[in-house]
Amino acid sequence: MSITIALSKGRIFEETVPLLAAAGIVVTEDVDKSRKLIFDTTNPEVRVVLVRASDVPVYVQYGGADLGVSGLDSLIEHGGQGLYQPLDLQIAKCRVSVAVRKGFDYQHAVKQGARLKVATKYSTIARDFFAEKGVHVDMIKLYGSMELAPLTGMADAIVDLVSTGNTLKANDLVEVEPIMDISSRLVVNQASLKLKQRTLRPILDAFAQAVAAKNA
Ligand code: AMP
Repeated sequence: MSITIALSKGRIFEETVPLLAAAGIVVTEDVDKSRKLIFDTTNPEVRVVLVRASDVPVYVQYGGADLGVSGLDSLIEHGGQGLYQPLDLQIAKCRVSVAVRKGFDYQHAVKQGARLKVATKYSTIARDFFAEKGVHVDMIKLYGSMELAPLTGMADAIVDLVSTGNTLKANDLVEVEPIMDISSRLVVNQASLKLKQRTLRPILDAFAQAVAAKNA
């Protein structure tokens, strides 16, 4: 039975390639040189589809893909319904943090109990975080270039992924509070896990072994 794997371009794809190779799966085309969205692999039973990072859990939930690799950030925002999450792949590591414009007194703003304007793509993570702190927030939902929101005066703070911190620095923003560590997880469609055991199980096992070997 054939298997479809949903991945997103960028760090997740690049860091999943060695894990796929450990399972004997190699994408037969250079995805960066193609406009295609569906790719064959060296395993005739396996194909790879490329979707937006936030859509990986959606494709797997609804059976558009049998398994996928999703950042914890996208998984939390999705909610995880209908997904089996067997493995933290420990790849594409970064963190979700609060950042503000240099000079903005964040500690004062959150202590005063004033309302904080927060722009983010990660509204569930941000809402839960500030609710826990007892800080009232006005949430502005964005889909990209969040760094611009404080610079244009649209928001006091952003909640975004931070890896090296270079993007924040380049935009005169400072990281003021980490929210959570992020890594990518394997997500599996619950029905596929039952119906496609024979093909899926060896792939899941190979991933688990490769992750264990890499982190030994
Ligand atoms: P950096 O400049 O290294 O701190 O990276 C920050 C930028 O890269 C932000 O725009 C993030 O949205 C993006 N980013 C960082 N890490 C990841 C990741 N693991 N997955 C997806 N995007 C990331």
